[in-house]
Amino acid sequence: MINGKKWFNWALVFLVCLSLVIIYGSYSQAVKTPKQENVSVKILNDKINKEIKLQTETKEADLFTSSKMLPFLTIEAIDVPIHKWANNEETLFLEELEKTELLVDEKIPAHLNVNSDVHEFDDHLYNFVITVEQFIQNEKQHTYVKTFMVDLENESFLSLADIFVDSNKVIELLTERIKKEGIQTATLDDLHNLNWTIHDDEFILYVNPGEQNLNNDFKAIKLPLIKLHNYLNEEYKDMLISNKLANEIKEIKEEKNNNRKLDPNGKYIALTFDDGPHASVTNQVLETLKEYDAKATFFMLSKNVQFYPEIAKEVVKAGHEVGNHSITHVNLNAVNGMRMKSELSDSKEQIKAVTGIEPLLFRPPYGEYNQNVLDQAKKTKQSVVLWSVDSLDWKTRNTKQIYNTTIKQIEPGSIILLHDIHKTTADALPLILEYLLDEGYEFVTVSELIPLIDANGIGPYYGK
Ligand code: ZN
Repeated sequence: MINGKKWFNWALVFLVCLSLVIIYGSYSQAVKTPKQENVSVKILNDKINKEIKLQTETKEADLFTSSKMLPFLTIEAIDVPIHKWANNEETLFLEELEKTELLVDEKIPAHLNVNSDVHEFDDHLYNFVITVEQFIQNEKQHTYVKTFMVDLENESFLSLADIFVDSNKVIELLTERIKKEGIQTATLDDLHNLNWTIHDDEFILYVNPGEQNLNNDFKAIKLPLIKLHNYLNEEYKDMLISNKLANEIKEIKEEKNNNRKLDPNGKYIALTFDDGPHASVTNQVLETLKEYDAKATFFMLSKNVQFYPEIAKEVVKAGHEVGNHSITHVNLNAVNGMRMKSELSDSKEQIKAVTGIEPLLFRPPYGEYNQNVLDQAKKTKQSVVLWSVDSLDWKTRNTKQIYNTTIKQIEPGSIILLHDIHKTTADALPLILEYLLDEGYEFVTVSELIPLIDANGIGPYYGK
């Protein structure tokens, strides 16, 4: 009897185990296998260019169909993350399908659609805009957009922080825009997880359901690039902005400059920096001017421009005026006619060749000139400009003294002579700017000041 009971107990345990195995087996089969049954896969390749092809993989199964079009570059660092992401999307779709399995009518298979748009900015800069759509029971469940900004040269992905120097400002403008659209949104803090592109001179941010967008609706937020171009990283600016927009920006800038009418009774100062560019002082001067939002005029020696072309370009980029200060800083009264002409004209051409800007102002070295110099300047369409305030920075080389000498002579309309080749001058500049701002002065370029000089006759300046 005892043995019989034992046998019965064991048989019971065995049966329970067996049924558990069967239940688990049928369950896991229900979860994993039906959708993978009778799957037929087709792959189509569409070549965009020699680097990029779009690969479309279509699948047909009993319960679903899918079509995934993805970029394929044969660069592992780029392909792997994109395809990994797409595979994950497919897994999510199948999981979604499982949740609604009882509702799925086999006659209406579910469908996953992944579509890629390629935005080319340059032969190594691309943005892939990948749209994911899920259809279950013929109803679109959701749309989701994922973007990849790709730098083929460095084989890397670029984030908003790479493309914009001031990405905080961009986020601020986007957040404003999102609020206006009435979208209840989470923060846009995670720059690496934002999906965006630039297309037709518009910046487009895709706010996806469940991520940035708490309303559970997909939205594309658009901002005209003209509002953002100032924050773009110089490295990518030309690639991201169309020629049309670049021209528009240029025209607006020119109009602004032309329309800037100075008040004849206003307090204006033109800061001028001679003899540069210099390897380190010019940059220090540029930084200070930027800090005080002051524009100045740089009278450059073309031999230095050729020696430091990048620094000369920085001056132009920062919006300052470039004037001509001869090739070699020779006294024009002490050389023959041919040399004098070359010092005035060839320098102009050399500066233009490097900076792209044609100097229309000429300042003779040491302020030395004669009628021949004035004639040659006129012939080459350069206005001869001297100064009204000499900081004596070249002589004293003392920060405090430069400051004192300068501020003592200041009056509205002054043209201040400084040199961006002495560190002491660069060190004195913040003190001078601070003083002038306190006194209510505004900083203008020499060209801006000239109409006022014509009217008021302040400062030595010799005709157009
Ligand atoms: Zn000089």
